[in-house]
Amino acid sequence: MTFKEQSGGVVAEADAVIPAASLFHSFSDPSRLVILQHLQLGEHRVVDLVKHLGLSQSTVSKHLACLKDAGMVESRPEGRASVYSLNNPEALVDLLSAAERLLALTGDAVTLCPLHGADALARHYEE
Ligand SMILES: [Zn+2]
Repeated sequence: MTFKEQSGGVVAEADAVIPAASLFHSFSDPSRLVILQHLQLGEHRVVDLVKHLGLSQSTVSKHLACLKDAGMVESRPEGRASVYSLNNPEALVDLLSAAERLLALTGDAVTLCPLHGADALARHYEE
């Protein structure tokens, strides 16, 4: 690590990682993680997410705006609705898989990639 020696010290170092902090911020809310899990199963309209998550439309929209700002999701219009999908699904699954590995090592095993579990997929389509 050499950036401390280059110039500016700690502040410049912190500035350099702001995009990463923004990225991790998009994962810092349980509802946003659940939204990302649902979008791994396929695109969803806002009303689908409202139904699947049991949250209010305004809460879901707020989380989607956050995820969109972070570049995690994209939307396209379909009639009067907006349909949301993952922007970079493969990279996201890689990252979430790494997080699953890390969580398992720290003793908090969590499944973040529903595609790994056929059960989750089956449950989703029963809804
Ligand atoms: Zn869903």
